[in-house]
Amino acid sequence: MKKSARRAVIAGNWKMNKTPCETTALINEMKPLVKDADCGVVLCVPYVDLCAALEAAKDSNIEIGAQNCHWAKSGAFTGEISADMLVSMGVKYVIIGHSERRTYFGDTDVTVNQRVRAALDAGLTVILCVGEYLEQREQGVTGELVAMQTKIALGGVSAEELSRIIIAYEPVWAIGTGRTATADQADEVNGIIRATVKELYGEAAAEAMTVQYGGSMNAANAAELLSKEHVDGGLIGGASLKAADFAAIVEAASR
Ligand code: PEP
Repeated sequence: MKKSARRAVIAGNWKMNKTPCETTALINEMKPLVKDADCGVVLCVPYVDLCAALEAAKDSNIEIGAQNCHWAKSGAFTGEISADMLVSMGVKYVIIGHSERRTYFGDTDVTVNQRVRAALDAGLTVILCVGEYLEQREQGVTGELVAMQTKIALGGVSAEELSRIIIAYEPVWAIGTGRTATADQADEVNGIIRATVKELYGEAAAEAMTVQYGGSMNAANAAELLSKEHVDGGLIGGASLKAADFAAIVEAASR
């Protein structure tokens, strides 16, 4: 399958930013700017902003996601949110395994897999994040590491369910640092992720898989990153908090 036949998806990760009122205002500003997008447009907002985001994005091409979900359906997990709760609100996407969850909140490859399973069972589409720390890149283990993260996260995921998985390659050293991977570095690792999916599910599944790049992608560098064979969109942090910047990235993915 040619890159052009794959679905590019630009997803914003707002992290812990914006109140519900600010969410409504920012989505209203974005809507006219991204309405002609020839790619998927997703905004992953804080839990407390989901209602406002779903309401503001109604009747637009913007889809709404959360930034995490618990692996259990319900129970004694104070402060947590289940995948079923998200679906019941109308949420379609969820980020799983973001490096900030892995680094600050103890997510491991095993809990990432449990969350992926729960999200798929509930009917969500998962944006699964993998990526290496700078020391790991310097030790030359990036390829093995992202392959391992991908394999463990996809444990128990069927070939049919794969159409509801997007994988985002996010080198940890590039997230929120302003230090972007070069387009060739992104393409190389995204290619390794695709090869890993091929090993697990075969060529057709691998070729159809949307593999994003994330890590200081912005309006200025998006076109070059997105021009690469294996880069099918982006997971955007900082630049997704500014309507014009996010819209410029969406436009770059739509070419
Ligand atoms: C992210 O949070 O997933 C991310 C890529 O952030 P930033 O674009 O700010 O580096």
